[in-house]
Amino acid sequence: WPGCKDRKLSYEQLKEILLDTPDSKLAEKWLEYYTSGPHLAGQNYSQALWTKERWEEWGVASDIVTYDVYLNKPVDHRVALLEKSKKGTSSWKVAFEAPLKEDVIEEDPTSALEDSVPTFHGYSASGNVTAPIVYVNYGSYQDYEDLLRANVSLEGKIALARYGGMFRGLKVKRAQELGMVGAILFSDPGDDGEITEENGYKPYPEGPARQPSSVQRGSVQFLSFAPGDPTTPGYPSKPGVPRGPTEGFIPSIPSVPISYRDALPILQALNGHGPKAKDFNKYWTRNLGLKHLGVDYNIGPTPDDLVVNLYNKQDYSITPIWNVIGVINGSIPDEVIVVGNHRDAWVAGGAVDPNSGSSVLNEVVRSFGKALENGWKPLRTIVFASWDGEEYGLLGSTEWVEEFAPWLDHANVAYLNLDTAIGGKQFGAAAAPLLNNILYEVTAEVQSPDQSTPGQTVRDTWDGKIKTMGSGSDFTAFQDRAGIPCAHVEFGGGHKDPVYHYHSNYDSFYWVKTFGDPGFKYHRTMAQIFGLMTAKLADEPVVSFSAVDYADALDAYIDKVADKLDMVLGAVVLDVDSLDDEEQLALRSGTGAGRLELQASKRQEAEEFKASLDKLYKAVWEFAKQANTLDARADELRRKVDERLPWWRWPAKLRLGFQIRKVNDKYKQLERNFLYEPGLDGRDWFKHVVFAPGLWTGYAGAVFPGLDESIDAGDYKNALRWVDIIESCILKGAESM
Ligand code: GLU
Ligand code: CA
Ligand code: ZN
Ligand code: ZN
Repeated sequence: WPGCKDRKLSYEQLKEILLDTPDSKLAEKWLEYYTSGPHLAGQNYSQALWTKERWEEWGVASDIVTYDVYLNKPVDHRVALLEKSKKGTSSWKVAFEAPLKEDVIEEDPTSALEDSVPTFHGYSASGNVTAPIVYVNYGSYQDYEDLLRANVSLEGKIALARYGGMFRGLKVKRAQELGMVGAILFSDPGDDGEITEENGYKPYPEGPARQPSSVQRGSVQFLSFAPGDPTTPGYPSKPGVPRGPTEGFIPSIPSVPISYRDALPILQALNGHGPKAKDFNKYWTRNLGLKHLGVDYNIGPTPDDLVVNLYNKQDYSITPIWNVIGVINGSIPDEVIVVGNHRDAWVAGGAVDPNSGSSVLNEVVRSFGKALENGWKPLRTIVFASWDGEEYGLLGSTEWVEEFAPWLDHANVAYLNLDTAIGGKQFGAAAAPLLNNILYEVTAEVQSPDQSTPGQTVRDTWDGKIKTMGSGSDFTAFQDRAGIPCAHVEFGGGHKDPVYHYHSNYDSFYWVKTFGDPGFKYHRTMAQIFGLMTAKLADEPVVSFSAVDYADALDAYIDKVADKLDMVLGAVVLDVDSLDDEEQLALRSGTGAGRLELQASKRQEAEEFKASLDKLYKAVWEFAKQANTLDARADELRRKVDERLPWWRWPAKLRLGFQIRKVNDKYKQLERNFLYEPGLDGRDWFKHVVFAPGLWTGYAGAVFPGLDESIDAGDYKNALRWVDIIESCILKGAESM
């Protein structure tokens, strides 16, 4: 096959380099660099340049790719609790003025920076509203439904929602749709797991519990409708391009994030007003972390003489952002592996998000540089990406995919993503099913930093669960728009791990050194894992995909749709308590399934839809047959490669090269068959019929979104339409193999 003659390193030797090179001390050094000052989207060219220079130093040719994106910078904000001085008078007194600032912590230098980034929401609307407040729990679609059913007045009120459960922008979106005039989001320590002050842990920096003034910044764009620059959905934000209206992509009501310390007086002001969380269902009473501080979790609204003033001023402009793109050319010109993570952060530190990923990616680039030095050349081209503007809405990666769509469609075999690479010690992964195998194989080749059982690998410490691709990081445009199979890996925190201060000033180098990854062993381990994943995809002659895994997954996804439909049809009485936390929340995130209702008039349509699922099972059967054949053929070719024919058998080698190419072409294009050009209902930026971010979850993925959302909407005619679309995609996929 092409390229074999100039390879001075065997694949085994390459793997050795990728396992030996990553270094904890250097990972620490890169992290210290990236966390040394603010690097908000488009506001730190020097870090882009520095990254490019390092990569070039390590032997990887790199460039800076610029886009002009529309985004906001914070100017001013206010959250204050106002009370009428005396009944009947018109003068107000300020009962509480929220500082809206995180404490300066001496041990943690980035928390003390003069130019640290204020607490605000990316893509939030400017506005100045004064209104009664309503506590809306997590602000999920179903939470708002519960409030409507309980006749809680929402119109004209300000929503107070706790973080968690789903992407924050969707909390604001639903508030806006229901006529609310503003939204305030706070971090309830009850959602931090076991490590809380209430349970006796000291807050950061003395201990691992949440620092009470910590604030989660973050984007409130309507991520499940389209990521990327909201003024250029579907095409790249190059200088001078025409720009569309932002309506439908970002909020029109103001919102701000606050700490639980700032939320306390407002929550306390709600005491005694309206129903209580415990009058609702269990989704309202889980993880309530402020009861011991005198919060009764009343819903409100507060009376007209007890209101909140929410003021948010944002400056919007067109700003350049800078992706760093490094390339190692392979021998095969049109087979490309892209690996990336973002570089921009909300806060000066951004030590976990994203710079644990940036530091790991640097160690991976450096390791591949070592291999190059030793005369190695990959079969496939490897593209390394350090994205900018992820935090606002996956800007750098989305605009890049939109710009290079035709080339990626033709050449991109897979995309691998890092983001908050080391926020804890528990390995976690999400992937397109074609890549499942790679995750299992690679994690079994890397030793876990946890050697409490000597010799255990990362695979041994991992439950082996692979999530479907949702959204919230830079894989989204690759997977959901371009139909490129993606994988995302991280070490995350569990219920008993130190609280990670996501998007807060305390996501800092000091926190990582002290609590997150002292000794940087997990950084090193992740560099080994990510390096091997990249190598496996880039350098094994036969692309290491498993089509059978895709078939199995499709089958399971149809089961999932059928199960949901059964619930609606009443064939199964759902035992909510038997579901785990995440499943319960997922169920609650749909627009209709939380109620599991079926209008009598729709029963026949629903039954008809259910019967039509047989068509999908049959199509998957066909797909599975072909997948089996393709995977078997791939295995056979792998065996032939291993035979290592001598040079004088060149005609046979040439033939083998052609045979491999044929199989690889099929693997490369397989995921593309699931793209449907007109896109998903009401969000046509998304083209993939199998994977999408949940409409009302954002982060968590939906499978067969067309079917799932039709069930939620009780629109079984539309569901039938989607059955036909999906069936033809599956059959096309089968035929392509
Ligand atoms: N990782 C970012 C967040 O979760 C992504 C923002 C976005 O996708 O809009 O806030
Ligand atoms: Ca765009
Ligand atoms: Zn991130
Ligand atoms: Zn982030």
